[in-house]
Amino acid sequence: MAASLRAETASLVRLADLDLSRLWRLVAAGANAGEALHDLLPAIVREYGAAGGAMAAEWYDQQREKAGASGRFYALPISPDDRGAHSLVSWAVGTATDGAALQSLILGGVQRRIADHVRLTVTSNSIDDRAAAGWQRVTDGNACTFCSMLAGRGSVYSEATADFASHDECGCSATVAWRGQPVPVKPFTPSAKTSTEADRARVREYLRTH
Ligand SMILES: [Zn+2]
Repeated sequence: MAASLRAETASLVRLADLDLSRLWRLVAAGANAGEALHDLLPAIVREYGAAGGAMAAEWYDQQREKAGASGRFYALPISPDDRGAHSLVSWAVGTATDGAALQSLILGGVQRRIADHVRLTVTSNSIDDRAAAGWQRVTDGNACTFCSMLAGRGSVYSEATADFASHDECGCSATVAWRGQPVPVKPFTPSAKTSTEADRARVREYLRTH
């Protein structure tokens, strides 16, 4: 289920990384990193974001068919958007202490933005589709404490206002809870990870606002 979508998202991130390596070569040849990134990054995010959204919409339709959901519904990808690529560039350029750090901050931010197109396509269709009760958060089995605590609640989000909390390099995805069927994510106790007060506070804050 969500695993195939995760693997496809990872391939898109690898393709985006190849585009970025061209950009880093320009920088190595003397181009200003900030200028090159401001010029090229928004388009890279939009392009791979669009591909991610299209992929997620197709996945949604396949899942819907497998679930035997009633009624007619065709999933739509969310509109491609650079999702604040300029702020990512300004933040990364201001934070990175060397070229390697800059590359990894940018790639982390690009990964998050591509994956957000995939996740938000699943969440928005789960909310629009009457055959779906909503969506659930699924971790990749490697999640940070915050994500494990959130996913472990097994909540089904059904409000359009429930955004998908994510972070750079977050491997969490969204999956559909079909009406009249057992939910795909049962509540669980996150294993062996010690939650800090900061993690618990973030979870409380997320729950308060969703
Ligand atoms: Zn996480």
